[in-house]
Amino acid sequence: MMYLYDPTFDELSAWMDEHGQPAYRTAQIFRWLARGVASYDAMTDLSKDLRAKLSADFRLDGLVLERRLVSADDGTTKYVYRLHDGNVIESVLMKYHHGYSVCISSQAGCRMGCTFCASTGAGFGRDLTSGEMLAQVALIGADCGTRISNVVVMGIGEPFDNYANLVRFLRLANDERGLGIGMRHISVSTCGCVPQMIDFTEEGLPVTLSVSLHAPNDEIRRRLMPIARTYPIDRLLDACRRHVERTGRRISFEYSLFAGVNDRPEHARELARRLRGLQCHVNLIPANEFAGGQYKRPRAEDVRTFQEILVGEGINATVRRELGTDIEAACGQLRRRLEEAETD
Ligand code: SAH
Repeated sequence: MMYLYDPTFDELSAWMDEHGQPAYRTAQIFRWLARGVASYDAMTDLSKDLRAKLSADFRLDGLVLERRLVSADDGTTKYVYRLHDGNVIESVLMKYHHGYSVCISSQAGCRMGCTFCASTGAGFGRDLTSGEMLAQVALIGADCGTRISNVVVMGIGEPFDNYANLVRFLRLANDERGLGIGMRHISVSTCGCVPQMIDFTEEGLPVTLSVSLHAPNDEIRRRLMPIARTYPIDRLLDACRRHVERTGRRISFEYSLFAGVNDRPEHARELARRLRGLQCHVNLIPANEFAGGQYKRPRAEDVRTFQEILVGEGINATVRRELGTDIEAACGQLRRRLEEAETD
């Protein structure tokens, strides 16, 4: 059974047609979905009969709020949702001066196996559907009562390992009849699945592409990220150059700094050489530690030196502001799984 958040406007219109319903019903439902509706009872402007027919074909309990944790430091909120089949995912609401941003998960768990990421330890459940991605944004918008202006696909999972649903989600989220989130206000982050990056470039969607680089060379990158064994850094950067050339949009690199592993001045200089001439921005992320993790946070002065070297070499680089560390909502700290959620 599909989640009511899954069908596109055209697909739902076709369903209405088959069930002898007027076309405007689809627009009505899309407005409800944009408001984060979670039960058929709430949709009071639809007849009981139509609601019963809909509920026979589409579930509305796809995401059930399990826990909400608010950071005492900065108001960042982590949402834990249970999916209809028992899988559990996490999403994060962040407040910036320019608006509200939601970080969504694209899979329940992850298969990529990055050695520094807590999501890896949680194993892999399954891909999320486009509707399960969309509902994270809509439900959080409803919960906080504010319009969500930005979406980042940087939570649990590798979005390009769930490519078709990701692209479907981006079109759904962008649909003016629903949430209407501007493509330019959406970022997608990948660990570097090169073939899908190339497809994504051809898709021509004006979202920001972020690439988790984390190393200036293959030797270090392979220690951190198994995907680097499949796609060497040169191939990855070729795909990045191609993306910039084809879309005219600059690419964003995430570079998490792990003390003693990839945070030395020589690493910064090697990185600068590699990125020279590529229209990009580097986001430096001091490692987020978590129980059982093997990497340590770099010293603040090492982060600053790393940034200064990049900037000195003409590479745009900023240090990402950390949000929600106290509730384990920061990069790489999301890892909820069914078993864990049940025990706390
Ligand atoms: N699979 C996607 C989406 C995850 S995004 C990707 O790899 O890009 C989350 C970002 O946080 C990625 O850049 C990821 O590499 C980074 N990250 C994961 N664990 C981290 C940790 N412990 N400290 C700092 N950054 C981490």
